[in-house]
Amino acid sequence: MDMPANALHSMTRLRALLGEGYDLDMVRSLLQWDQATYMPDGGADARGRQLALIGRLTHERTTDPEIGRLLDVLEPQAAKLPHDSDDAALIRLTRRLYDRATRVPAAFVAEMLEHCSTTYQAWVTARPANDFATLRPMLERTVELSRRYADFFPGHASPADPLIDQSDHGMTVASIRPLFGALRANLVPLAAAITARPTPDDRILQHSAPAEDQLGFGLEVIRRFGYDFTRGRQDLTHHPFMTKFSLGDVRITTRTREHDLVDALFSTMHEAGHAMYEQGIRADFEGTPLANGTSSGVHESQSRTWENLVGRSRPFWEHFYPRFQQAFQVMAKVPLADFYRAINRVSRSLVRIESDEVTYNLHVMIRFDLEVELLEGRLAVKDLPEAWHARYQSDLGLRAPDDRDGVLQDVHWYSGPVGGAFQGYTLGNILGAQFFRAALRARPAIPQEIAAGRFDMLHGWLREQVYQHGSKFTPDELVRRVTGGPMSIEPYLDYLWEKYAPLYGLRADERAPVVVA
Ligand code: ZN
Repeated sequence: MDMPANALHSMTRLRALLGEGYDLDMVRSLLQWDQATYMPDGGADARGRQLALIGRLTHERTTDPEIGRLLDVLEPQAAKLPHDSDDAALIRLTRRLYDRATRVPAAFVAEMLEHCSTTYQAWVTARPANDFATLRPMLERTVELSRRYADFFPGHASPADPLIDQSDHGMTVASIRPLFGALRANLVPLAAAITARPTPDDRILQHSAPAEDQLGFGLEVIRRFGYDFTRGRQDLTHHPFMTKFSLGDVRITTRTREHDLVDALFSTMHEAGHAMYEQGIRADFEGTPLANGTSSGVHESQSRTWENLVGRSRPFWEHFYPRFQQAFQVMAKVPLADFYRAINRVSRSLVRIESDEVTYNLHVMIRFDLEVELLEGRLAVKDLPEAWHARYQSDLGLRAPDDRDGVLQDVHWYSGPVGGAFQGYTLGNILGAQFFRAALRARPAIPQEIAAGRFDMLHGWLREQVYQHGSKFTPDELVRRVTGGPMSIEPYLDYLWEKYAPLYGLRADERAPVVVA
């Protein structure tokens, strides 16, 4: 970097401070990973204490006034650098994270964490007991705390905006609403047209198989995808996730289900998609905030790409189905066409995480709308269960028999603030299809390669266009660089139509017109 000596010195010092914050964050992830995989129950209390300590130290490190002083010195220098210089990007990103972290008092951070951990413990028993009443006062306090969090960022149009910005920088309720509105206007009729057709039989997937066989097949697939086992590993957990302790150690977790041949497989592909994004980040970004995926939406676009656009595609299974039949003898006589229909079965369901590619976003948008209403004071927590049922009735034509599969089903509102946690899932579906379309334009042979069981072309393109950059570009900058335009729902709607219309025999006149916001 072309900088005067004192600026170079400041840059070195800044990197050292950022490196410590980064490593503390990694230690926290390691403790959480252990808690979710191997830790015996007896370790819970001490682990809670250790996590709180690391959380406090991380907050101290990331709000160290010295970082602010160094940024003041470095910003005039960075302004002379090209916008896409690594140093300029690091300084911009550090400024954004530093300003955000220093606005929120440490005491508030501790209060929020403690409240969320109590609420989570209560949710673990309240959900199976269908007991919303016990959680209600806690959720009321969560909403209040979430609003107070937003108040640290004056000038927002909606109290949900600062929370959204944290995971999907640059997005706001005002920018998401038209996008989701247009998506919903297309998905509701699509789901209705599909579910009016006979439902494919997915009982052919409901067989038991030894856990080793389920895991073995998944590992074979993600090795072929390009997940690097010299810099990662897979372990078992209850709710699968990806985590990283450095760019050289990016782990995934999964679970197996007794009467389901593909659940572990698709969850493995999903988490591997997240992990390949992190493994693909430039090694020289290590130890800085650049060494992270740029937003939850972009992250989710990669898990969805590998799970759905690749893993549930016809070309993929043309190659892998014979191997699958070999691994699971019970499938020996089931034709590929039936299997393909079963893994792409669309049905209205009550539970988000069990839903399919077409209806999934309807679930997400219900939560997004409700959390915005809660934060904006247009919905009271006491009325939430009924508001939930009303939305499921109107969007999916279903009503949950109780709150277990209603307002209690997702852990999010009971383990963190209300707001900012859901939009990323749907942004991920939108962006996954948009990036994939750009990949196909640049490398038209990708589908033939996939049908031959090869993924280097797709993986290489994604690494070059998306992964290597980490957080160097904002989500919006990245989307424009990769696709040549802003985020758009059209590629995703085209993808769904082109896949599901032939599967379900839909007629062209059944397609809702795309109204682009
Ligand atoms: Zn994910």
